[in-house]
Amino acid sequence: MAQVYQASEFSSLQQVTGINADLWQDMPAAGINLGFTDEHIWVRMPLNQLPFNYQQHPWILELGYPLLDHIELYIMHGDVVLLHTDAGNNLPYSARPLAVPEFAFPVPPLSQAQWLYLYVHSESSVQIPIRAFTEQSYWQQRVGEVTFDAAFHAILFSMLAYNLLIFLLSRDLIFFLYSLSIGAFSMMMAALHGWTYALLWPEYPQLNDLAILLSLALSEAFLALFGVSFLRLRKLHPRAFMLYSSYVVSALIFAVLAFYLPYHTMIRLLTGQAVLMSLSALALGQLLWWQTRSRDVFLFFLAAFSLLVGLFLYAMQKFGLIPVNVVTEHAAELGSIILVVLLALSMAERHNRERQARLAAQDVIINMQREANAVLDQKVRERTEDLELLNQRLREESTTDALTRVRNRRCFDQHFYTLCQEAFRQQTPLALLLVDIDHFKQFNDNYGHQLGDTVLHNVAQTMQSTVKRPQDSVYRYGGEEFAILLPNTAEAGAMMIAEQICLKIRQLSIEHEGESLSVTVSIGLCAAIPFARDQENELYKLADTALYQAKEQGRNRCCAMPFPRQHNQKKNG
Ligand code: GH3
Ligand code: MG
Ligand code: MG
Repeated sequence: MAQVYQASEFSSLQQVTGINADLWQDMPAAGINLGFTDEHIWVRMPLNQLPFNYQQHPWILELGYPLLDHIELYIMHGDVVLLHTDAGNNLPYSARPLAVPEFAFPVPPLSQAQWLYLYVHSESSVQIPIRAFTEQSYWQQRVGEVTFDAAFHAILFSMLAYNLLIFLLSRDLIFFLYSLSIGAFSMMMAALHGWTYALLWPEYPQLNDLAILLSLALSEAFLALFGVSFLRLRKLHPRAFMLYSSYVVSALIFAVLAFYLPYHTMIRLLTGQAVLMSLSALALGQLLWWQTRSRDVFLFFLAAFSLLVGLFLYAMQKFGLIPVNVVTEHAAELGSIILVVLLALSMAERHNRERQARLAAQDVIINMQREANAVLDQKVRERTEDLELLNQRLREESTTDALTRVRNRRCFDQHFYTLCQEAFRQQTPLALLLVDIDHFKQFNDNYGHQLGDTVLHNVAQTMQSTVKRPQDSVYRYGGEEFAILLPNTAEAGAMMIAEQICLKIRQLSIEHEGESLSVTVSIGLCAAIPFARDQENELYKLADTALYQAKEQGRNRCCAMPFPRQHNQKKNG
């Protein structure tokens, strides 16, 4: 059974070998954990309790805690020192008796060896888990330890690389903060296990303490930043936001102070903050989960919880409250791996949810745009139709005579010119009829202008209904005179139409104050196939002459005038 002696001042080997046996206290088999202490610790153990033959075979004493500053091992026979070895992080790595991250002392077979004395002093927390191994069993358990550490850091490194890659692809800052947190945390674990010293700066033991302090401070700062950003504390919980922001600030201040203040002060401050941060993360995770009921917040809470459970089990094991086994010995690492994986899961979960929400929002916007476009299209179509209708009406109005509802003089001028050109081009006959109401002045004079207007309207509509072909058209030429254009119609056909018009108008009866009034017209016509361009004037003059003849011959009749060289033209009708 090993025994331990603690004193506030240094005692030499001679002094401790001489002190009263009552001052030595029994030490638990798993070792002793004294926390942060400035005391000078001596451990002694009678070698005859070792379960192997230490007198004939070399063996190894392991002190399984890599953060001790000053260690001395003495193997004694009575008061005689048979073996003395120095170790501890105050010495360069190469000065260690065995080049492993934790402390190990090879002891040759010493037949007279009776006692083992171990002196330990350290600025950090003092743990003295001592175990004695035969050479073979020591290396066997080393392989297990190294494999576990390698796997642990490989997992952390792959998570770091994965999150960094996602950050580069998505530009989402939270993945970068998470990578930084993992990086700092992994550095801290490597420093705590003595790996950074063994691999990165074996010649500079003074860097060890600084590395632990800095990596712990940065882990706290990055994890707090990550927590703020992940839980959206600024929006969801402003007071927690203030708290975590102050954690970030104080962690950064601690990182600077680590260069100036002693290790034992800084490590107490940083560990205290780590405990506060973990507990508040646990409380906050739970609170926000109740509030939001979102799966990623629950995973965050679970992650913080698993780390705390890991650290708790580790501490219990260290204090000898639960048995030492593979799980309890590596509880902190297991807890942090679960933390890292759960946080990665919860970020993936959130990223996915937000992506789906973004896609859904995009769909909504696209649909809204589509609907708005459809409505706009419909409106434009309706407006265009309205405008077309209006244009058509305007066109009609501008070519229609308001009183008689047949086409007006302007329209006649245009059509007459066009139809003449066409008749010339196609060499088809065009007939022009000039219609004049007989003694129209008398209607006005005897019955008033209103009746005159009625007569004009009735005569015009009678003519309009008499011409049948779609291309035939009736125009009010002016006053009580009308013109009718009959394309593709020769004189005989035109005369037939003129006679019909005369007849139908004669048969009209216009009611006025119980009286039935009748009306007659005189028609002059000319039909011709133009033999040159621009012959509409000749055509008009001949039709006008024919009308004059009809009036001369007593009105209420139709007269035709032949077109010069008419006999040379193709007859059509
Ligand atoms: P004739 O048989 O020789 O053609 O005799 P008329 O009375 O028909 O001929 P005249 O040219 O002397 O008279 C035409 C009249 O038509 C004169 C004018 O007051 C009238 N008039 C012209 N335009 C309109 C109109 O829009 N409404 C009315 N009520 N009368 C009109
Ligand atoms: Mg007239
Ligand atoms: Mg007249």
